[in-house]
Amino acid sequence: MDNITASEIAGLGVGVLLLSATIAAPKIDAFFSSSQRSSLGMCKRCGNIRRLACSRCKGTGFVKEGGLFGINLVDDLYETIGNRESTVKQIACVKCQAKGYFSCPDCSKV
Ligand SMILES: [Zn+2]
Ligand SMILES: [Zn+2]
Repeated sequence: MDNITASEIAGLGVGVLLLSATIAAPKIDAFFSSSQRSSLGMCKRCGNIRRLACSRCKGTGFVKEGGLFGINLVDDLYETIGNRESTVKQIACVKCQAKGYFSCPDCSKV
């Protein structure tokens, strides 16, 4: 009986822990600032994920053709003449070679 009760309590404890971890997740994320990451031996840049999302393609590996300068002139032009389909053409991101991420320079040094 004692064992069952103990494991039930343990199970309840884990459940509460998981629940509170879920609720506190955003706070924990904020809590792990870059300085704390480094004090924990984690990478400041990537938090030991070893990957950095590409800023140009937002991690997708592809960019819209003609959208490189923030102003989508090609899109606007095609939209005007009603040929919207060709505007969704996407080209491989040259910045990350269509991978969508870079290996973290800090981690790849090691
Ligand atoms: Zn990219
Ligand atoms: Zn890193």
